[in-house]
Amino acid sequence: MNTATAVCRKCQSEARVESLPGVAGDEGGVRVNFPALPALVCARGHRRFVMPGFPAGVLERLSAGLQLPAGKAKGLLVKRYYCGACDAALDRGATADRTYGIDVDVKETGPVRVELTVPVLACPACGREQVASPDEIAKLVPAAMARAFQSAEIPPG
Ligand SMILES: [Zn+2]
Ligand SMILES: [Zn+2]
Repeated sequence: MNTATAVCRKCQSEARVESLPGVAGDEGGVRVNFPALPALVCARGHRRFVMPGFPAGVLERLSAGLQLPAGKAKGLLVKRYYCGACDAALDRGATADRTYGIDVDVKETGPVRVELTVPVLACPACGREQVASPDEIAKLVPAAMARAFQSAEIPPG
């Protein structure tokens, strides 16, 4: 962990990198959780990201690095979903929540663990668990992450 200090932009007191436990946010059934989120925290408790563009950087590395097991969508107007392994039709009603995580590399702090909890469907034929539509998940992740930072009182930017 980087022990360098910075100056708080709000009160000019000294700010240090701290690890905030369990910073999580939800959007549309998707949860983003940081088990230990590094943030700059000053003596009076003001918080900010360890570097400018932290959310965008994490999002980018998350979408590049985390491959969710995925089904296939077919159909133009009404989409139906099929198992990515065996092509059997998936029942979108029967979901369970599963958590997938990766360590995102952040130069300033070292690896940051990010966990994504998403609804998965078990294939009725082969049993493989998968997200029906990774595109739908990808659309929800930025908002879930923004809520996580909001809940930790870290202002955007
Ligand atoms: Zn401050
Ligand atoms: Zn299958």
